[in-house]
Amino acid sequence: MTDTHTMNFGADVSRLLEIVTHALYSNRDVFVRELVSNSADACDRLRYEAIANPELLKDHTGFDIRLSVNPSERIVTIRDTGIGMSKDEMVENLGTIAKSGTRALMEQLKQSGAGNSPNLIGQFGVGFYSAFMASDNVTVISRKAGSNETWAWQSDGISGFTIREASEQEQATLNTPCGTVISLHIKDDASEFLLEEKLKRIIVTYSNHISLPIYVGTTEEEPVNTASALWMRPKSEITEDQYQEFFAMVSGSMGLDQPAVTAHWHAEGKIEYTSLLFVPTLRPFDLYDPSRRHSVRLYVRRIFITDECEGLMYPWMRFVRGVIDSEDLPLNISREMLQQNAIVSKIRSSVTKKLLGDLDKLSRDDKTAFTAFWHQFGAVVKEGLYDAVEHREDILKICRFHTTQSETEMTSLADYLERMKDGQDEIYYISGENVDAMRNSPQIEGLKKRGLEVLILKDTIDDFWLPIVMDYQGKKFVSATKGQIDLSKFPLPNSEKPDQKNKNETAEQGARDRTSLVSYLAGRLSDRVSKVRISDRLTDSPVCLVAGESDVDLHMGRVLKIHQQYESNAKPVLEINPDHALIKSLDKMADQDNQSEMLADAAELLYDQALIIQGEPLKDPSGFARRMSLFLGKGLAA
Ligand code: ADP
Ligand code: MG
Repeated sequence: MTDTHTMNFGADVSRLLEIVTHALYSNRDVFVRELVSNSADACDRLRYEAIANPELLKDHTGFDIRLSVNPSERIVTIRDTGIGMSKDEMVENLGTIAKSGTRALMEQLKQSGAGNSPNLIGQFGVGFYSAFMASDNVTVISRKAGSNETWAWQSDGISGFTIREASEQEQATLNTPCGTVISLHIKDDASEFLLEEKLKRIIVTYSNHISLPIYVGTTEEEPVNTASALWMRPKSEITEDQYQEFFAMVSGSMGLDQPAVTAHWHAEGKIEYTSLLFVPTLRPFDLYDPSRRHSVRLYVRRIFITDECEGLMYPWMRFVRGVIDSEDLPLNISREMLQQNAIVSKIRSSVTKKLLGDLDKLSRDDKTAFTAFWHQFGAVVKEGLYDAVEHREDILKICRFHTTQSETEMTSLADYLERMKDGQDEIYYISGENVDAMRNSPQIEGLKKRGLEVLILKDTIDDFWLPIVMDYQGKKFVSATKGQIDLSKFPLPNSEKPDQKNKNETAEQGARDRTSLVSYLAGRLSDRVSKVRISDRLTDSPVCLVAGESDVDLHMGRVLKIHQQYESNAKPVLEINPDHALIKSLDKMADQDNQSEMLADAAELLYDQALIIQGEPLKDPSGFARRMSLFLGKGLAA
């Protein structure tokens, strides 16, 4: 037997080990994942080398990974039949943590002043050292493929390591022509890792899709990992049932739901990844919970990394389920690092574009399915309109809105544009809570009568994206309940043209501006409205309220107030319909005696009526009821 060489890690490295084992991974289970994935890598490398040099596989017993436990000695071993390591490689790979990067990393840590910043540590390959999270002594016995020397590397993870030739007994534990056995002496506070069940559970969680068998226990014949990496197989070889089964697994829906969209593809080029993603049919109960976990699972080269990668999917894609498997990301990347990783955000962009494209396709191929999707998830998708400028056009493409054009069908913006009137270059909308109430809203009477289509927006989110998005294909979004809309270009249908209707009322024509009533109302209501004006909007109703040109839409103001983002002091504009009989007679009344109590009551009633239509609460409901009864009484008596 040769000498044992003892080597020190050096001060920097032992400090680093401390940081790594305490700060890098919040979850100790991952050391199993790290060691198993190293074993899988070693098998992959031998498989590759053997292509050029088949001799390497002489007497090879087949690729596998086996974990076993010796509880009385507190030992967990992980054995693989991979490529193994020579003495030099062990010193190099296991003895020099993050080989080239150690010094640079320590420098950065010092400079940043963040002693334990996991963000920095995550950039360096330190996978093997995660073993020291649960273990106070690690022995690595390894024989390189094609060699007959077996070496033993040993360390407590603090002071340094020793390297020597392996004993007969140690060589026997290897029991394979080439490969590696890692024996971990489990720390007192980590006894759970001495349970086979625990190890099995970790493997099923993190390494289920590794493509070689993993066994737990010395005599176990059945591998623990049953599933293969379905997403890596060509689409043509995957049955509908297999997709369904996989969806059930990744969505946790246990077969109660079906995917509305299955998007399975491989991206190559600047970034390379494979993804198998699903849009569910049913809305998860916690869709609107802001703390909701992201549930697309991130793999790196078939190794499960996390299902909580925040940057991987946009929050407004939080209903998507499935797997993304990157070829480019480093395995040892920490969660914190993932969030700002450039590859991750490129994947997100690419995946989002693809999914929006698939949804657009669905809207053309299967309208019923798409409509069902939109009812479930449309409000969430619209969050993307202010959250992700680069995808805005694609999102607008799949948006569907209620419209005055149809009572039953929703419309796309493309179809709206298609139906626009000659000379119309704006998209009109009204927003509120109740679609039916908005449909009958006085504010859009004038538009409807002129055959101008109005989109009816009912989701809270609409009030947040509209101020930011401005237009669709150059056509501005214009609120029908705000400012003055110029409708002079669009005459009312012939019979109702105001100038024709009033043909024989020349005196009346000049009086259409209802000066007496306008100035009376402006004075009487000056504490509540900023202005009173004659309206183009109204055809059937006497009055309505609208927001001033530069103010926030009335409904939007209310929403913003609820969400405590904004409190508007702006007073609305009261618009009156000059052709309405009630307005005409009140104008006459204001002309004759603007001190009359009846006129004052009428002004209050008009204003309250506008509020009610708007869905706003009345300041003085009993006052309203009293005046109403008074007027009704007079009407009955007359
Ligand atoms: P990484 O896997 O990112 O390279 P690790 O710290 O996990 O970093 O492992 C360091 C190196 O040690 C590996 O790159 C590999 O060369 C070597 N190594 C670790 N485990 C094994 C093993 N089971 N068989 C062969 N080589 C291994
Ligand atoms: Mg590794």
